[in-house]
Amino acid sequence: MLLSIKEMEVRKVRFSETWQPSEFDFSDSGMTQSAPLTAEGSAEILPHTGGEVRVQGKVRTVLAAECDRCLAPTTYPVDASFDLFYKPAAELTAAEDDLALDEGEAEIAFYEMPGLELEDILREQVLLQIPMQKLCSESCKGICAVCGANRNEVECGCEVHPGDDRWAGLSHIQIGSSTSNV
Ligand SMILES: [Zn+2]
Ligand SMILES: [Zn+2]
Repeated sequence: MLLSIKEMEVRKVRFSETWQPSEFDFSDSGMTQSAPLTAEGSAEILPHTGGEVRVQGKVRTVLAAECDRCLAPTTYPVDASFDLFYKPAAELTAAEDDLALDEGEAEIAFYEMPGLELEDILREQVLLQIPMQKLCSESCKGICAVCGANRNEVECGCEVHPGDDRWAGLSHIQIGSSTSNV
């Protein structure tokens, strides 16, 4: 759905939309949309701002992914509100571009005619809700590095020694050889 600037010039644009599961593609983030995605809100041009657009609303859906540690299927309910501001890209002259960079305003977003794609906005807002590390639970024990068992489900009893003497010896040799090269 296009949030049309031309329409906003006449009135506040309201939206209330539903997308079926998988209509949004989150595969580049390793996730799928496993429930309908609903969004409602509004978009308007703020008066006396030279065309700044404000998009407010709520988005709800459920994403599915594999746990980063044990690969078990995991779901992430998303229920987020957003309040975003966009300036017209035409305002971006070279001088202002430099100014914006100097002020560290990298977070300001811009729009171009004919307007903003609601789907792009929602996709970004949903992904913002997902933690960098996707876990089935905070206490997930992951997969055993020795036998490959899911350690949440079985006590495989393998002994893992991260501080094994053989490895310590190896790292010592590597440090020694790199120093002698200098
Ligand atoms: Zn897990
Ligand atoms: Zn094991």
